[in-house]
Amino acid sequence: MSNENTQTDFQQIISHCKEYGFIFPSSEIYDGLSAVYDYAPYGIELKNNLQQYWWKAMTQLHENIVGLDAAIFMHPKTWKASGHVDAFMDPLIDNKDSKKRYRADVLIEDAMAKIEDKIDKEVDKAARKFGETFDKEMFLKTNPNVLRNKEKVNAIEARFKKALEDNNLEELKQIIVDLEIACEVSGSKNWTEVRQFNLMFSTEVGSLADDSSTIYLRPETAQGIFVNFLNVQKTSRKKIPFGIAQIGKAFRNEIVARQFIFRTREFEQMEMQFFVRPGTEMEWYAQWKEARMKWHRTLGFAETSLKFFDHLKLAHYANAAVDIQFNFPFGFKEIEGIHSRTDFDLTQHQNMSGKKLQYFDPETNESYVPYVVETSVGLNRTFLALICNGFKNEKLEDGSERTVLALPAFLAPIKIAVFPLMKKDGLPEKAREIFDDLKWDHKCFYEEKDAIGKRYRRMDAIGTPFCITVDHQTLEDNTVTLRDRDTMQQERVSLEQLKAVVAEKVDWRKGLR
Ligand code: ATP
Repeated sequence: MSNENTQTDFQQIISHCKEYGFIFPSSEIYDGLSAVYDYAPYGIELKNNLQQYWWKAMTQLHENIVGLDAAIFMHPKTWKASGHVDAFMDPLIDNKDSKKRYRADVLIEDAMAKIEDKIDKEVDKAARKFGETFDKEMFLKTNPNVLRNKEKVNAIEARFKKALEDNNLEELKQIIVDLEIACEVSGSKNWTEVRQFNLMFSTEVGSLADDSSTIYLRPETAQGIFVNFLNVQKTSRKKIPFGIAQIGKAFRNEIVARQFIFRTREFEQMEMQFFVRPGTEMEWYAQWKEARMKWHRTLGFAETSLKFFDHLKLAHYANAAVDIQFNFPFGFKEIEGIHSRTDFDLTQHQNMSGKKLQYFDPETNESYVPYVVETSVGLNRTFLALICNGFKNEKLEDGSERTVLALPAFLAPIKIAVFPLMKKDGLPEKAREIFDDLKWDHKCFYEEKDAIGKRYRRMDAIGTPFCITVDHQTLEDNTVTLRDRDTMQQERVSLEQLKAVVAEKVDWRKGLR
């Protein structure tokens, strides 16, 4: 797919989200606020379903994970202890001609991704040329163009990694210069120096604006879990290993907020901190890595749309970290981070507060500060991945076209639409009766306006997996047609069986079993 197409597709997805009531720009009547969005009627249904699905997968299916909802505001010392005041920085660089601001690390990552793209294209070309006899492994090991590009990427990666580890801002700039990276707006390579920029938003509590009243909007939900660790452990009587899950808003003053809801300054995280015995963290890290990948696969993402990406530079609190990336129209990007956070956070809070945050292990008869494995997934980014994955413009056999949002049935904003075929002969009354019965179990939609084909298309576009149509035969034999969004096939189902058939089709357990 060429870059131009990719952009058009993504633009189409953004327009679709607005036109069909998933996402609106914030305060649109005032021309919007850059990179801030509101979730519209279908968007909020999908977002709620997704967060419920994560919540149930974590807290209902794991006896040893409990929930928490900590406040967004926390004592300012929290962020000193966690290292965010001193180290939650991104390296930024400006183009002197366009005045456009970039993250230096993202510019370099994008440049590396472009070279990786060239390798992928070379592989695709060869696969087409050689057909069934194509040996990809061998090709990757021997093709001179691939080897040259691989060597290039490895060399950049090594330099980049070292620059990040050493916090060497001059070297980051030098890499940008050496790679001849140009600004996408001005086209020039006229860059400022690289500077560090703290991502936390601050505000004041109360009426006095002095230093002591400065508080932060939390940049991650995790710290609310750490400071509550002992409260939760004691009241829920959990033994290690156990986890605490939380869903909530986080705020980061991102230098470059872009790509629709992919990177915004206000977003939602679904985080789980898993507390383990020191020395066992790597086993748990490996286990959660697999478990989380499996969860993402249940969202209907193809094997090739997801991959792991090991961090080049570990955050100040981690001894291992990996991202789960999804293949967005703009490339593979992180949707979830899995970190082995050691005992860093609990120890820091213990030292800063002077309160013990230790666990007495009845099995070993010792007290210790537990180690932590964190899984942290972006609700909004996963939402975007679902939309990108499901959005399709299809050409049908009869030459017509349809836009369909192939969302997993258990997450769809509307599960079932109920239509009377015509607005007469008692069909609307019968259809209403069915709707009124189903609405107790599922989010349903009733409509009698327009031709049935048009009504089906509208439901396809918002991802409704099933439509029920009441026709004259219904009045004779108590059956309705049940239309499947993806196959567009219709089957006749008796009204006695309808509830059970529908319940089975939209069951959230399907994915996780
Ligand atoms: P990135 O490298 O893209 O800035 P990150 O590594 O800083 O992300 P984490 O701190 O690991 O992200 O946060 C966990 C998850 O929270 C991410 O995987 C992502 O899904 C989500 N997230 C982080 N920042 C944002 C943002 N600005 N907008 C939307 N979601 C975000």
